[in-house]
Amino acid sequence: MVTTTVVHMMLYSQYYFQYGQHGTSISDLANFLFKPNKTLGSSFIKCVDCNNETNIMNSEMSYVIHCPYTFIGTTSKYFSEVLLHQQLHRCTLCNGGTNKITKFHNSPPVLILAMNNNTKLEISKNMSLLISTEITNYELKG
Ligand SMILES: [Zn+2]
Repeated sequence: MVTTTVVHMMLYSQYYFQYGQHGTSISDLANFLFKPNKTLGSSFIKCVDCNNETNIMNSEMSYVIHCPYTFIGTTSKYFSEVLLHQQLHRCTLCNGGTNKITKFHNSPPVLILAMNNNTKLEISKNMSLLISTEITNYELKG
């Protein structure tokens, strides 16, 4: 639990918030408050034809997901694309197409979307994400 005192201390930290509580980016504040203290997931490249998996690595996934202002679609679609997106390079075994897949190790208790003034983003009230082997449903709050 974050107390008001801790938030004030963070806001007056010259390192993180050089302008104090005025002019502080909500996105920066959310990043700071919801910074994970452990690796939340892993990523790998998977061939769509032969299912070969390569380049398995820890993901830098956070509870705060930044959506670029150029994205067109729903927030649900954006989360799906963050977790699975097509790659340009081909499979080294069969020359098939590949996707980069990111998986959370466990269902995050919260996911925050930073929208960056994107006027072409449609807000989804609900979304479902496949996490590990289970589908987790999320409802929009706030
Ligand atoms: Zn392949």
